[in-house]
Amino acid sequence: MTVEMRTPIPVKEAIERVIKVVKQLETETVSINESLNYILAEDIKATYDIPRFDKSPYDGFAIKSADSKGASGDNRISFKVVDHIGAGTASSVTLNSGEAVRIMTGAPIPEGADAVVMFEQTVETETGFTIRKPFTEGENVAFQGEECKENEYVLLKGQRINSGVIAVLATFGYETVKVSKKPTVAVIATGSELVGPNDPLETGKIRNSNGPMIESLCKEVDIEATTYNIQEDNLQGCIDIVEKAMSEHDIVITTGGVSVGDFDYLPKVYDAIGATVLFNKVQMRPGSVTTVAYKGEKMLFGLSGNPSACYSGFHLFTKPTIQKMMSADAIYPVIIDAKLNEDFKKANPFTRFIRGKLSFTSQGVYAEPSGFNKSNAVVAIAKSNGMIILPGGTRGYQKDDDVKVLLTDHQSYESKLTL
Ligand code: AMP
Ligand code: MG
Repeated sequence: MTVEMRTPIPVKEAIERVIKVVKQLETETVSINESLNYILAEDIKATYDIPRFDKSPYDGFAIKSADSKGASGDNRISFKVVDHIGAGTASSVTLNSGEAVRIMTGAPIPEGADAVVMFEQTVETETGFTIRKPFTEGENVAFQGEECKENEYVLLKGQRINSGVIAVLATFGYETVKVSKKPTVAVIATGSELVGPNDPLETGKIRNSNGPMIESLCKEVDIEATTYNIQEDNLQGCIDIVEKAMSEHDIVITTGGVSVGDFDYLPKVYDAIGATVLFNKVQMRPGSVTTVAYKGEKMLFGLSGNPSACYSGFHLFTKPTIQKMMSADAIYPVIIDAKLNEDFKKANPFTRFIRGKLSFTSQGVYAEPSGFNKSNAVVAIAKSNGMIILPGGTRGYQKDDDVKVLLTDHQSYESKLTL
């Protein structure tokens, strides 16, 4: 038997090949309460000015600024309070010279007033208060339309709906919003050695960790994936389950079986179902055998069975695909600069992705491996919040070298109260 020859392509090119064929999904309308983490599929216009009216940003007194001219410590100017309003009501009074309205944060500036004196800037009197400094026209006033004007586009499609977007939608009275559909994802762990959490661990068996990990990676981006039964290494079984998954989902992620072993059937599956393979060898470690294929609008990810390789493959290829299907503006992983905290003397012709831990120090950002880091490692994944990228070549890397780190889990950064 001859071993199939594969042509390794650079990681960047592999990602580009995938993104190029990914089709954007249709749009749908969802309630704003369910819209978190969808991508906006419409530009959002302000339906009125924000603020809607000139209002007080403080608790205090609304005055005519002209009345405060010449005020000083030696020349306190006094005002008579003629009305009292809280947020949600308006004063019916039109201010005359020397008068003031007691006003709370958020209440509309009364007719005739053009400045607000904060409580802290006053001394109370029988009929009102005195001040010791002059106020300018507009001082302490939040002006109508200063943040945005009616009909102005405040958000553009392609943006992820975060809590701030939800606040904007609520501000303008939207109950529903047009979004891009989320892809549906099937997860299939393949391998005759795999057993579930309650099965006995007989000789040669291991527990399936990739299935739950990939399902959770999907959840991290708010995609509910469907996990299929573990699939043993059997060609017809693999063909049947991949075809079924493809008929039910936009994305099919398999783990395992993409290498050149005797029981690695995924290459044959792609062949049998008539899928186009975009690549089956990438210049990266781990996960060089990662394979991505497509058929029609369906994307098929053949991730390596090795847990670390499987994790990298999802971040590099699947996650950007999910983002593009949802028509997000930001589809690629975020990559930052850091300094390496450890030597990697051995050169590698392929780009290495090392599960790493970032530390943000006053001297800069440092990255170090998060543990035992071979492709079959699993614990280091759990302790990582990034992947250190060491480009392939003829030289190794040393402590303090500048490197790039792909961010994977921003919620597990070290945190200190440094305020
Ligand atoms: P494969 O990609 O099928 O050649 O598998 C590579 C390595 O990953 C083998 O040691 C497998 O036993 C292991 N492996 C495959 N699938 C899984 C899985 N779902 N969970 C944990 N390890 C796996
Ligand atoms: Mg296998």
